[in-house]
Amino acid sequence: MDGITIALSKGRIFEETLPLLAAAGIEPLENPESSRKLIIATNRDDVRLVIVRATDAPTYVQYGAADIGVVGKDVLIEHGGDGLYQPLDLKIARCRMMVAVPDGFDYEKAVRQGARLKVATKYISIAREHFAAKGVHVDLIKLYGSMELAPLTGLADAIVDLVSTGSTLKANHLVAVEHIADISSRLIVNQAALKLKRERLAPILDAFAKAVPQ
Ligand code: ATP
Ligand code: MG
Repeated sequence: MDGITIALSKGRIFEETLPLLAAAGIEPLENPESSRKLIIATNRDDVRLVIVRATDAPTYVQYGAADIGVVGKDVLIEHGGDGLYQPLDLKIARCRMMVAVPDGFDYEKAVRQGARLKVATKYISIAREHFAAKGVHVDLIKLYGSMELAPLTGLADAIVDLVSTGSTLKANHLVAVEHIADISSRLIVNQAALKLKRERLAPILDAFAKAVPQ
């Protein structure tokens, strides 16, 4: 396609990217929450949106099926970022990657004693690197969602998950015991598109950069 394809996921990333798109003069003609369409036209006939699963956005951009995309740093770290130019922290969808344990579990003591911790998470790479850097031995258990359930059922001692307000942890009698990283969403750009479509892409990237809160 000669025009520009932008990969976005439904929900918070779509909602929080809308003002940035508006700053670049781009308005979606449909709302992906109510439409079943996966390709959404915009007010510009040379720009379209593709609605992808959050974890799939880097893949679409890496292979050039989308020219640019918006993706959480968490997803980007797990993906590895191969073939992606990452020019901008958009400072949207902000949250924190944390280690959490059941209220009352003595995490410091378990770590001090060199216990082998069972850790459930969707973020295997992030968790592996975090605990390796601390010299803590862990058995990682891959989950795809509802990590909070793991310690409550005995599947794991701890979880590595995203936390924003902490209310989900609280509702499940968990407490955050360690901060791993601050997370926000990044703009990702296909490296070939950056060269081949520079004329069309540059004004969009510039508008995004100007619209990001400093
Ligand atoms: P799904 O919820 O459909 O399984 P997902 O969790 O990958 O998919 P979202 O919940 O839309 O998708 O999250 C997209 C991105 O938003 C995440 O990759 C992360 O960067 C960020 N995010 C996740 N949870 C929060 C939160 N509670 N507050 C702020 N940002 C968050
Ligand atoms: Mg989610």
